[in-house]
Amino acid sequence: MTALSEECIKCGICEMVCPSTLSALRLIDVKRSREPPLPEALDCTTCNACVAACPVGVHITKSIEKMRGHFETPGYGETLRNISTYGASVVPEGRLKVRPKPCKTAYFAGCLTNYRLWPIASAMEKTLDYMGIEFTRIDECCCGSPLNRIGRFDLAKAMLEKNLDQFRKLGVETIVTSCPGCTSTLLEYQDEFEVCHYLDLYDAYDIYGALHKEPYRATLHYPCHLYRNVSPYTMKVAETILKKMCDYVPLADPGLCCGAGGGVRRNDIGLARSLKKRKIEDIMAVSPDVVAVVCPQCRVQLSEDVPAEDLSILLAKNLKPTL
Ligand code: SF4
Ligand code: SF4
Repeated sequence: MTALSEECIKCGICEMVCPSTLSALRLIDVKRSREPPLPEALDCTTCNACVAACPVGVHITKSIEKMRGHFETPGYGETLRNISTYGASVVPEGRLKVRPKPCKTAYFAGCLTNYRLWPIASAMEKTLDYMGIEFTRIDECCCGSPLNRIGRFDLAKAMLEKNLDQFRKLGVETIVTSCPGCTSTLLEYQDEFEVCHYLDLYDAYDIYGALHKEPYRATLHYPCHLYRNVSPYTMKVAETILKKMCDYVPLADPGLCCGAGGGVRRNDIGLARSLKKRKIEDIMAVSPDVVAVVCPQCRVQLSEDVPAEDLSILLAKNLKPTL
């Protein structure tokens, strides 16, 4: 990957694949001429479709995140306030009930799961128990992902370090994750601990034989931060799981961004909702009973319009009884 301005050959491919309203080329010109960043940098969902498509490896998203460090908006202010007040990106509803213990494996759920979508954490804990994996939880702080997305890198590092300190004290070696934002942050910003998204763990365990089939029809939305930032293979695993559990119907463009990421949903809900229109049309075209998602943020965004559920929950419900 290269810096934004030096290598760009102005082919325009990044603009063709961008699901949002911004012009990456305009931002590149601004960067090259060293003019102040444009507010349209706020409209990037950090989906990384541009990065994946760029023929010369320009990391456009990283540069956009840096530009955003110059902006103060009500949405960014809310994220900063929540993190400085509660150590979480959302206002907690109740206290996090965990009992940290010395253990080689830890499950890290992330703010949205801990304080809004706790059934994901319950499903994860159930499946880890089913697999016979001993694990601990920690008294989590935000992993730093929402701060990196808005260009507050130093604060993000400080939050991440608070979590890493707890892992060190408990002797943790492997961190299991269920949120793509946490997964990609833990992979990118530290290398002291192994990081394993639950799909990779379930695949290594060969969970497929433990699943029974039920008569419902499901499709799959690929979360940008897992599919493009971590590994496309995770989506192959997710598809295999769904084929074992139900009637799986693929979307025409499963990797199309849902419009929620990069702080866009909090910062400009109107834009976030308009960006998901194409996604919802794609979903309606296959008439599923449920859209399987592998991201709490995508789950929040899509469930406003269609039945959506995290794959960890669908899977925990489909486990065969243990012998
Ligand atoms: S795809 Fe890459 S090379 Fe092409 S215009 Fe965008 S940043 Fe420049
Ligand atoms: S990360 Fe996604 S939304 Fe942002 S500029 Fe690239 S393609 Fe557009």
